[in-house]
Amino acid sequence: MKITLLNHTPLVVCADAIRTCWQSFDKSDHGGEKDKALIDRVGNKFKHASTLEHLVYTFYIQGISRALLQELARHRMASLSVKSTRYTLKELKEEEAFTLEDTKRAKKYLVFTDVEIVDEMSIKALENLRLILKQGISNDKAKYALPESYKTELTWTINARSLQNFINLRSDKSALWEIRNLAHELYNNLPNDHQYLFDDYLKVL
Ligand SMILES: Cc1cc2nc3c(=O)[nH]c(=O)nc-3n(C[C@H](O)[C@H](O)[C@H](O)COP(=O)(O)OP(=O)(O)OC[C@H]3O[C@@H](n4cnc5c(N)ncnc54)[C@H](O)[C@@H]3O)c2cc1C
Repeated sequence: MKITLLNHTPLVVCADAIRTCWQSFDKSDHGGEKDKALIDRVGNKFKHASTLEHLVYTFYIQGISRALLQELARHRMASLSVKSTRYTLKELKEEEAFTLEDTKRAKKYLVFTDVEIVDEMSIKALENLRLILKQGISNDKAKYALPESYKTELTWTINARSLQNFINLRSDKSALWEIRNLAHELYNNLPNDHQYLFDDYLKVL
């Protein structure tokens, strides 16, 4: 998978939102250590967590499976714009047959696991889908034969409060391995000066 952080809110915006309550703007150090400590104290320790909603991150997420996508979509406090199979499945029509010998070409479309038979069956499903499309069946119908391993990509926007919840639930060892990897990659792609807000939620892989 590949994660790109497209946009984020500077810490000073959140600190100023908090300072609105006390009208203490003159105490700001413009997103420096004082502001960082304030955000942690009020947003995390005092549990005035709605203040963390002023920090918003937009990621471009590529190369995740549709199995992961359906779990990601359960997080309602986030916004998604996803590559549509309805509009883009024709990309498969241009391809030569997918065979078990040439896994490299199939990997462009599929997320592989570490279990050989699962990956082989995924490749067969991909080839079946290609054959369906070659017959001129519409994307709207052909998509029902998609394997869950089929790769997708999306723009994902989430605020810091909801991202804490996501990282807490999805970096846990009880979560699906691929979403656990995603939780760690999202953390790694956060701006360095924001990561401290998520340290208590991230579980070691
Ligand atoms: C290990 C694991 C296993 C899972 N297994 C399953 C499964 O088998 N089947 C299944 O269906 N799902 C499963 N889930 C998904 C899970 O039930 C949640 O839908 C998902 O984790 C999103 O969490 P969330 O509701 O906290 O996040 P969000 O939807 O982003 O919500 C964030 C927070 O907002 C608040 N909130 C949002 N909506 C409401 C609301 N309507 N009412 C009150 N408060 C609200 C809650 O505090 C919530 O924590 C699993 C999740 C995990 C981590």
